[in-house]
Amino acid sequence: MTAEIFAVKRFAVHDGDGIRTTVFFKGCPLRCVWCHNPEGLAPGPQLAFYAEKCTNCGLCAEVCPRGAHRIIDGQHRFERSLCTACGACADLCPARVLTLYGETVTVDSLLPRLLEDRAYYEKSGGGVTLSGGECLCQADFCAELLARLHQHGIHTAVDTCGAVPRAALEKVIPFTDLFLYDLKAHTESVHQRCTGRPNGLILDNLRWLDEVGAVTEVRIPFVPGFNTDEVPALAALLAELRHLRRVHILPYHNFAGAKYAALDYPNTMPATLPERAELDRAISILRAAGLRAD
Ligand code: SF4
Ligand code: SF4
Repeated sequence: MTAEIFAVKRFAVHDGDGIRTTVFFKGCPLRCVWCHNPEGLAPGPQLAFYAEKCTNCGLCAEVCPRGAHRIIDGQHRFERSLCTACGACADLCPARVLTLYGETVTVDSLLPRLLEDRAYYEKSGGGVTLSGGECLCQADFCAELLARLHQHGIHTAVDTCGAVPRAALEKVIPFTDLFLYDLKAHTESVHQRCTGRPNGLILDNLRWLDEVGAVTEVRIPFVPGFNTDEVPALAALLAELRHLRRVHILPYHNFAGAKYAALDYPNTMPATLPERAELDRAISILRAAGLRAD
């Protein structure tokens, strides 16, 4: 069995307890306007072209078997429709202008990389987190990987948007110590506007996880002009859960703009950043509902 991933991040400290290694899987069912990992949206490999750094040396044009790169009058033209994401040009580019987002892995090829930092996990109470994209779009692989990590005594976390079939959660739940559950909005129309999808399945899956005793931490991206008014309704919903151990408000940032351009995606990222006072108000609302929040 194989999976498509786009990054393995070591020494992650915001993806669950302690020091962790986070695996980012390709493919996501949502299209959040503020997404800061646009390279995780599509399921397959993609070439990113960071045009502003290109020196027009022409090496990529020489190596590309599809003729997707051309240097014309000193200008680099990249024709994405010709690209098969083979990665040959990215391996060669001396200016690191080209990045292939996508790597096919097996459990056996990935596991040794994840066990490398085992000493740090043990010392810090950390472990391995599966994220994305939406890792549970590749649930069979995740279940096998998580089971193998458990055999090695590694703490496991799954970061999910919840917009997945119940069967995907059922596959991973026996091998998952913690679910990091991302919630964007309680009101369906707001969720639809923010993510392109309704939220009924997401809310149902969260309640089901709680019913079966799964430990969760909920993360709420806080995006002015989109979902900041949703916090009171989300607080009321979360206050009913018995196995929720914490809620994080994630301040929106717009660092990912360059990736949208490099992937030829329209940049949908909102311009307005949250202010500290707004974030503190949101945290106060959650705490007033009896939740452990930060
Ligand atoms: S990834 Fe392969 S097909 Fe795509 S532009 Fe580079 S060399 Fe050509
Ligand atoms: S190899 Fe890199 S620096 Fe050279 S033309 Fe291609 S993208 Fe630009």
